[in-house]
Amino acid sequence: PTADFTHRTVLITGAGSGIGRAAALRFAALGAGVVVAELDPARAETVAREVAELGGTAQVSVGDLSDPDVVARTVATAVDGFGGLDVLINNAGVYDTMSAIGDVTDAEWERVLRVNLTAPFLMTRAALPHLLAAGRGVIVNTASEAGLRGSAAGTAYTVSKHGLIGLTRSTAVMYRDKGLRVNAVAPGGVATNLVTEMRADPTALGPGTVSGYAKLNSGRLGEADEIAAAIVFLASDAASNINGAVLPVDNGWSAV
Ligand code: NAD
Repeated sequence: PTADFTHRTVLITGAGSGIGRAAALRFAALGAGVVVAELDPARAETVAREVAELGGTAQVSVGDLSDPDVVARTVATAVDGFGGLDVLINNAGVYDTMSAIGDVTDAEWERVLRVNLTAPFLMTRAALPHLLAAGRGVIVNTASEAGLRGSAAGTAYTVSKHGLIGLTRSTAVMYRDKGLRVNAVAPGGVATNLVTEMRADPTALGPGTVSGYAKLNSGRLGEADEIAAAIVFLASDAASNINGAVLPVDNGWSAV
């Protein structure tokens, strides 16, 4: 049977673009109430409108999810707007400058770790009581090929995504007896704003860039919706015995 998210609330971070947007539209089409959590207000409103056009219901929470006040407000948006929270998708993320550690500035380290790792930590901790109350709560984290290997990004991004996989596994083990499931997807390269913005910005890559590595075995660029399909599967009852797993969605890159 097709996954059914009727009467379930799904909170997606970074839902204004790319993988998060594609996931928001899929969950909405499957009946979920969707919370669009996004830094960029215009992107958030556009996706909320797209959800409504599909016949779905969206609530919007705009702000930087590495700020604990924004995190608290975002969880409250789900609980106040929909009466609870069943699914959390920690998906918002930023790329680094592909720099090796000798060229990683304090500012880059803090920016990447704050958004890619601290924000999921804060969101998970804040959402936890509501996910446990739901009885069959689910978290799906958007990790990366860079969480599986050392050659897919610079040091800061690689560390952040390895950390996110650690958060996935630890939380999965600690709460499995309470009905919570926590999994991650590990996308290879995906055609999203993250990639196009980096390619268009001549300053996006730092002096210590290691971009040559990733091209070697990475395969074709994926589509955002191909990653969203895997996220929806892991969040669905069809994945009821999958917990603490990291699912590569990468055209086979992780198998090379
Ligand atoms: P994207 O840039 O298209 O979308 C990310 C969204 O997150 C943007 O709308 C952005 O405004 C939002 N965002 C960024 N920082 C935020 C913050 N602090 N608070 C709230 N929202 C914030 O990128 P995408 O490719 O869809 O990326 C989604 C996830 O997938 C990221 O975690 C990224 O690391 C991961 N990923 C992407 C690729 C790829 O090649 N595109 C590969 C592997 C993993």
